[in-house]
Amino acid sequence: MIELRTPAEIEAMRPAGRFVAETLATLRDETKVGTNLLSIDRRAHDLIRRAGAESCYIDYHPSFGASPFGKVICTSINDAVLHGLPFDYALRDGDLVSLDFAVSVDGWVADSAVSFVVGSARDEDLALIETTERALDAAIAAATVGNRIGDISAAIAAVGHGDGYSINTDFGGHGVGRVMHGDPHVPNDGKAGRGYPLRAGLVVALEPWFLQSTDVLRTDDDGWTLRSADGSRGAHSEHTVAITEDGPIVLTDRSWLGVD
Ligand code: MG
Repeated sequence: MIELRTPAEIEAMRPAGRFVAETLATLRDETKVGTNLLSIDRRAHDLIRRAGAESCYIDYHPSFGASPFGKVICTSINDAVLHGLPFDYALRDGDLVSLDFAVSVDGWVADSAVSFVVGSARDEDLALIETTERALDAAIAAATVGNRIGDISAAIAAVGHGDGYSINTDFGGHGVGRVMHGDPHVPNDGKAGRGYPLRAGLVVALEPWFLQSTDVLRTDDDGWTLRSADGSRGAHSEHTVAITEDGPIVLTDRSWLGVD
């Protein structure tokens, strides 16, 4: 069921968005060559506790998950791109890191992801990250009243395909509200002018992610981490966006923090 939020409810979602933005900015800043993925999770846990927020991940146990997630952040490294379960691993020079973070504050959820490289970056990794960011910008620009879900999907796909990446539509954007995953599903590829009409009050997480040379994923033995079938690297950019009569509001925007 698709739920629409009143302007007052969208205002009430802002603290969750701000907290997710601040936390990702902090974690991104602190994550360096040598940082252990488990320490990123511990730091995120600490920030959640101090803010009185609630993790959407720790007890998350959907039908495709082997067991509850048990951590508060997804850390997907190199050829892992989604749902990366933090494990005992110290980041190495040139690793491509994707952090995906969702919490609820005052009962409202915000969900956002960022990708970056620690240490010296390969040009092709920076290009991949830049494409996901540009696809997210295009998705947000298409998130306007009068458009349809397919317009967002087509905007993402135009950027991804334009840069030569193939697109997996199994995992994509989703409604966000009292819970992390709601209707509608927002695939990262689709036909403009098709699908659910975007109405004021719809709040969605938009999340383009691409792999360098495949669109096929496989799941690790941990039951969560999704990585490319061919070993090529992936990147992921996500924001929670409220569609309003006055245009899209990026609830998890980090630009006010002086970071992208
Ligand atoms: Mg997310």
